[in-house]
Amino acid sequence: MNAWEENIRKVEPYVPGEQPQNRNIIKLNTNECPYGPSPKVSKVKQCIDDLRLYPDAKSTDLVNALASYHGLKSNQIFVGVGSDDVLAMSFLTFFNSDKPILFPDITYSFYDVWANLYRIPFTTLPLDDNFRIVKEDYFKSNGGVIFPNPNAPTSISMGIEDVEDIIKHNQDVVVIVDEAYVDFGGISALGLIRKYENLLVVRTFSKSRSMAGLRIGYAMGNEKLIKALSDVKYSFNSYTMNRPSIVMGTQSVLDDLYFKETTAKVIKTREWFEGELTRLGFIYPKSSTNFVFASHKTVAAKDIFEACRAKNIFVRFFDKPRINNYLRITIGTDEQMKTVVDFLEEYLKDK
Ligand SMILES: *Cc1c(COP(=O)(O)O)cnc(C)c1O
Repeated sequence: MNAWEENIRKVEPYVPGEQPQNRNIIKLNTNECPYGPSPKVSKVKQCIDDLRLYPDAKSTDLVNALASYHGLKSNQIFVGVGSDDVLAMSFLTFFNSDKPILFPDITYSFYDVWANLYRIPFTTLPLDDNFRIVKEDYFKSNGGVIFPNPNAPTSISMGIEDVEDIIKHNQDVVVIVDEAYVDFGGISALGLIRKYENLLVVRTFSKSRSMAGLRIGYAMGNEKLIKALSDVKYSFNSYTMNRPSIVMGTQSVLDDLYFKETTAKVIKTREWFEGELTRLGFIYPKSSTNFVFASHKTVAAKDIFEACRAKNIFVRFFDKPRINNYLRITIGTDEQMKTVVDFLEEYLKDK
């Protein structure tokens, strides 16, 4: 290795889910919503004319819409380019201790990547045999805590009392609850931000708001946390949010009826699909998300994954210890899920 190469920051990058460009597939591998965004987001003509101008660095319209939607003050909201951006900024801002940060061993696989990138020490804490977070494991000295609720890829939601117990035992550090899937049946920790000034709740427009392609995420918390996050963001890239995102994101927030309807549809389809999975010999934890984490009683997940793929049905398989006999299947439309069930039925018949 050349000397100059030794000084390069080396990281093992996050591997995002595959995004096949072929449109003739049933795409159930990255937890997108099968329905389009609110029809109101098409109101972007004005913003196209304004593209020559820098955007509003504060994303005022979007921040105000979110603040009023959640009953918060504008200085309690931070927006970013997807929740990945918000989380990356949060790691940089809040996890600045010599003590390790804590998160589950089976969880969103970006957490350890950011920790490594920023040289943040971390300890992963094993989920129990039923893939549940063991809250007592988090009652020890640490440099910060982060977990998704509901957790991914397990789809399991933790009760709010347990979430609060983790926060209560960690008031000397920042606790981040990643609520990417909360709109599909989880219970939010948002109500606790008044009580705990060290709690940050992170959300995304990519799943329940059908806007993965636009990249919007946000954090909510005490104004001191939001100020610290903003200071870091302005030290990094002040114009993160582009004009179309600000305009379309705002429209999405204003159309609550559409949002409630699409999430309710996804939940209904999920409940039907879970029943079908049981009939076909799968086991899975009860999902509180827009995906199901399923394992077949006799057929290996990897075989099912490959068979599905050959039929242009894309689901997610993680070749990792403890979860390599599970498939994470995103909930699509009723029609898509029916096709998946018909295929699985046929495929499993002679296994
Ligand atoms: C999808 C997901 C994210 C990232 O979402 P973006 O807003 O699209 O960046 C963050 N956390 C979890 C747990 C996710 O599943």
